[in-house]
Amino acid sequence: METIAQRYARLRALVPSHVRIVAVTKFQPLESVIEAVEAGVSDVGENYVQEARRKYDANGLPKPVTKHFIGHIQTNKAKAIAATFDAVQSVDRPEAAEALAKAAESLGKRLPVLLQVNISPSERYGCLPDQAERLAEAIRARTSLRLDGVMAIGPITKDRTEMARAFQLAAEAFARVGGDTFSIGMSGDWEEAVRAGSTMIRVGTTIFGPRPARPVSKNAVM
Ligand SMILES: *Cc1c(COP(=O)(O)O)cnc(C)c1O
Repeated sequence: METIAQRYARLRALVPSHVRIVAVTKFQPLESVIEAVEAGVSDVGENYVQEARRKYDANGLPKPVTKHFIGHIQTNKAKAIAATFDAVQSVDRPEAAEALAKAAESLGKRLPVLLQVNISPSERYGCLPDQAERLAEAIRARTSLRLDGVMAIGPITKDRTEMARAFQLAAEAFARVGGDTFSIGMSGDWEEAVRAGSTMIRVGTTIFGPRPARPVSKNAVM
């Protein structure tokens, strides 16, 4: 069996060096994250605040990492998200921007964020591409947020043409929004994403292997 270090090294060698790799650690135990960080991972992504806190608050990592929030933003969790994470990739509506901005302000922090655009019917969240500019304006009006670019989740499909078409929509939104960070591409579609101009891929399975089942206890996760 390949180790996490071997899988990460192989991926890092395949992905162009200007593309940042965010290792998605959701449902992965801390031991696996430590292995990944020892292998060179510098950015991690998590979808759930409570899980991230349990994993990262104890600070059992050998090196500091940049923690990205990539899950759905519930406004009542904005404070916890702003306190726990270094960057938030999933700002998809004005209410989320407002709640995060207030939270960051109260923490005396300027939070780097990405605007999440919806490019696929299989994805529940994200603002529609034609609303991206208006949302970008709302984010830029908030001094406690720094808008760095766009994030999108590709369609659940094996059809490469469909992937490329969806990423094209995201690229158009990124061009209108501006910034230097274009976060598209996951384990199954990062090659198409890189071809479409990705500067940041978010990869779980390819680095860690199949994800463990989501913990059943509600308290443990959300
Ligand atoms: C889980 C997740 C990923 C990683 O998915 P893999 O297919 O395991 O690479 C990337 N982005 C988001 C938003 C996710 O929720």
